[in-house]
Amino acid sequence: MSARWRGAVMDTYGTPPLALVSGSGATVRDADGREYTDFLAGIAVNSLGHAHPAVVAAVSEQVARLGHVSNLYMAEPPVALAERLLGLAGREGRVFLSNSGAEAVEAAFKIARRTGRPHIVAAQGGFHGRTMGALALTGQPAKQEPFLPLPGEVTHVPYGDVDALRAAVTGRTAAVVLEPVQGENGVVPAPPGYLRAARAITAEAGALLVLDEVQTGIGRTGHWFAHQAAGVEPDVMTLAKGLGGGLPIGATVAFGAAAGLLTPGQHGSTFGGNPVSCAAALAVLDTIEREGLLAHVGRVGERLRAGAAACGHPLLREVRGAGLLVGLVLARPVAREAQRAALEAGFLVNAAAPDVIRLAPPLVVTEEQVDALVRALPGVLDV
Ligand code: PMP
Repeated sequence: MSARWRGAVMDTYGTPPLALVSGSGATVRDADGREYTDFLAGIAVNSLGHAHPAVVAAVSEQVARLGHVSNLYMAEPPVALAERLLGLAGREGRVFLSNSGAEAVEAAFKIARRTGRPHIVAAQGGFHGRTMGALALTGQPAKQEPFLPLPGEVTHVPYGDVDALRAAVTGRTAAVVLEPVQGENGVVPAPPGYLRAARAITAEAGALLVLDEVQTGIGRTGHWFAHQAAGVEPDVMTLAKGLGGGLPIGATVAFGAAAGLLTPGQHGSTFGGNPVSCAAALAVLDTIEREGLLAHVGRVGERLRAGAAACGHPLLREVRGAGLLVGLVLARPVAREAQRAALEAGFLVNAAAPDVIRLAPPLVVTEEQVDALVRALPGVLDV
């Protein structure tokens, strides 16, 4: 399989040729039958783990009944999902459904443009996707440079610096776009009070606050949405990743006046609101609720962070994050080597930065699986 992969699949990642063939819960198997505990979950996607019976049943049932309708018709699952997301946010609004995080961000970008203001503020180090609009918001020059010029008039300010944010936002600013935790930048949580300050600054300037919860949303931090823990109400929130439990889906949730900025004919997506993806998402949300997974994430996340911090290895400089989005900050830029050592030890993790190992296991990861990783950590860090 690895030779075929190298030949036919465009190599945009330089991925190690490990081919996974099956999984259940937080366990996956490779083509040789070797098992790994999945502490990455398809990058925070498989929220209920692999092959969760609730997702399998919902998807099977929906695909057997009505698999796709396009955006020319409506179906029950997207309507139910939109209502459900607004209910979880506890606010009035409207939802645009798409297929990925980048698409959810593109719709947010268009909503921002519809304010009539040209300028957007985003954060250095932030990540919002690889399509051109989302890439313009992404505050990582190395990812942008091969594709310049990018759309928009975007200012990137240092993440967490309230004064810099205040100075950047003017009466021409349409939106401030931030992640509650910068996942791709090495799991960097917003400093306490930063999101509240961003809310106050945008409200005063008449700009939108867009929170990109593609990585932090849907229980990942132990809350439905990370902004709820910060006590902040965004105008727009983007979701994807864990929402579909493994099926592709994105959602742009616009609240209050922001919900009316896109008018008929201004945006669309053939696959957006696909009934099968929406059925999977509804099963994910039901299961998180029924199995009390938000509280579980709080408990095992704390156990994981405390256990890792206590391992006392000299390479481990800091453990940071929220819930089950955890960054192990290393004293040297050897996260890729540690990723390989973890694989050898039977754990899927990933280098989110040269010096940061990211852990984002399924929300259903067990205490035993967490403890096993914590026990293996000193060996993994001997790189
Ligand atoms: N926003 C954030 C915060 C993300 O972490 C990601 C993906 N890592 C994206 C947007 C883009 O999502 P996708 O890869 O589904 O386009």
